[in-house]
Amino acid sequence: MSTTPRIEVAAVADALYGKWKEERLAGRALASDPRLQTIPGQSMDEHRERVLEQLGLLVEAGAIQRAFPKHLGGSDNHGGNIAGFQELVFADPSMQIKSGVQWGLFGAAILHLGTEHHHNTWLPDVMSLKLPGAFAMTEIGHGSDVASVGTTATYDPETEEFVIHTPFKGAWKEFLGNAALHGQAAVVFAQLITNGVNHGVHAFMVPIRTPDGQMMPGIGSEDDGVKGGLNGIDNGRLHFTNVRIPRTNLLNRYGDVAADGTYSSHIESPGRRFFTMIGTLVQGRVSLDGAAVNAMKGALAIALRYGSERRQFSGADGKEVVLLDYGHYQRRLLPRLAETYAMQFADHKLLETFDEVFSGANDTDENREDLETLAAALKPLSTWAALDTLQEAREATGGAGFIAKNRLTGWRADLDIYVTFEGDNNVLLQLVGKRLLTEYAEQFKDGDVAAIAKVVAGQIGEGAARFGLRQMGQSIADLGKVARSVEGVRDPETQQALLADRVQTMVAQIAM
Ligand SMILES: Cc1cc2nc3c(=O)[nH]c(=O)nc-3n(C[C@H](O)[C@H](O)[C@H](O)COP(=O)(O)OP(=O)(O)OC[C@H]3O[C@@H](n4cnc5c(N)ncnc54)[C@H](O)[C@@H]3O)c2cc1C
Repeated sequence: MSTTPRIEVAAVADALYGKWKEERLAGRALASDPRLQTIPGQSMDEHRERVLEQLGLLVEAGAIQRAFPKHLGGSDNHGGNIAGFQELVFADPSMQIKSGVQWGLFGAAILHLGTEHHHNTWLPDVMSLKLPGAFAMTEIGHGSDVASVGTTATYDPETEEFVIHTPFKGAWKEFLGNAALHGQAAVVFAQLITNGVNHGVHAFMVPIRTPDGQMMPGIGSEDDGVKGGLNGIDNGRLHFTNVRIPRTNLLNRYGDVAADGTYSSHIESPGRRFFTMIGTLVQGRVSLDGAAVNAMKGALAIALRYGSERRQFSGADGKEVVLLDYGHYQRRLLPRLAETYAMQFADHKLLETFDEVFSGANDTDENREDLETLAAALKPLSTWAALDTLQEAREATGGAGFIAKNRLTGWRADLDIYVTFEGDNNVLLQLVGKRLLTEYAEQFKDGDVAAIAKVVAGQIGEGAARFGLRQMGQSIADLGKVARSVEGVRDPETQQALLADRVQTMVAQIAM
């Protein structure tokens, strides 16, 4: 019997494709179409025009409609939509992110924050790209702290209109994809004021340009110009001087204003309302998580192929040694390969939770909260890991890695900003920390002595008393041999228990 380890390649590939294999393969087939691939060294202007044309090709290919409602030509397939989107990073991250702005931010805001009238009025043109749009949330003065944006939307009952206004320069909308050139409308996030009361940030549909590129009255735009990457996207600024829009342009799923100016919402707490609205836009984070994992796969495929064929220096037998046979070279790439597998499976879990919530299959408050926490935890880890892996792969492929057509430097530059947009990584991890500590505190909320004693008793004897380690110790005792019980460490349940213990201990230590 052969003792050579064997891998069922097809089975592993299937596991890596996950639940939406068909959509992933369709996305990958598109990404291998030369018309959609990046051309290194293009000027910014040429790149922007090419990416706009590529978005048209995505529409033709039926690649972007999946998340939209069936009656408008979509397929209500939320997980499959993101899976296909994640693959586009292989062709050109600019094309991926510009399509994310058009359909994942601008379109998704209309879908999730708007109601039927908005869907029927605008989504068909958004889907066909007849109406390119921007998602105008960030301002010069406020990025991570969206609740504090300065733009106002003041209701005028006389004319039944909202007046969108930028009161000071810090309230100019900033960094918006599609704002500098191609956007004809924007979903603008502004403080809703009616009858003299500020009801917090809401989203409004605002026409910004005519189809031939003229700015609408009262609206100004500036181009952000050349960026550190993603130069196929026309990022820019927008500002508004008393711009009037109909009352019905308020995307009113979570808050509405009647003709007489009366505000209503089924979510009473302004804080909860705001976080519910923002929570519906989580798909950007989910998308970036898998896109970053894909970039890691691309980088490692290139570097491992190079390392398995490239020979440098003679070995003991006088033959030149292939790079991957050097232990040091293996230690640079193989742990990152293992990390990529782990992150791919974590992304599957995230995508499945996302689909459960957005398809309505399991749309509970608890599952939504889990989804938001998972997305806030995984997106930072994978986008940072992608930058690290891209750099290591660049170095592992020597000078060849520095040649632009070999992709690594372009991906590195384009993915740099993935750690900042869709929620800055450090800020997202603070949200995760807050949730963990809040849950920890909840165990004590009734001040019940028995409950407190139970939690504390569970933590006594740091280390050995904890479940995972205790389980391992028990296994040594049962088997009587350390060597045999080490096998137990390979057991997935023991590993999971050890990791869960570690998290609980860390949270408890911080909380104490
Ligand atoms: C290429 C590009 C495209 C973009 N596209 C869009 C778009 O289409 N629409 C849109 O609305 N926005 C867009 N953005 C904006 C993006 O979402 C913001 O840049 C992002 O939210 C961060 O905001 P900021 O740049 O103001 O950074 P800041 O919020 O000022 O953060 C700066 C630093 O401060 C740290 N920090 C912030 N708060 C805290 C805290 N409480 N504790 C500790 N540290 C903190 C952060 O970790 C970060 O390192 C885009 C940005 C870029 C660069």
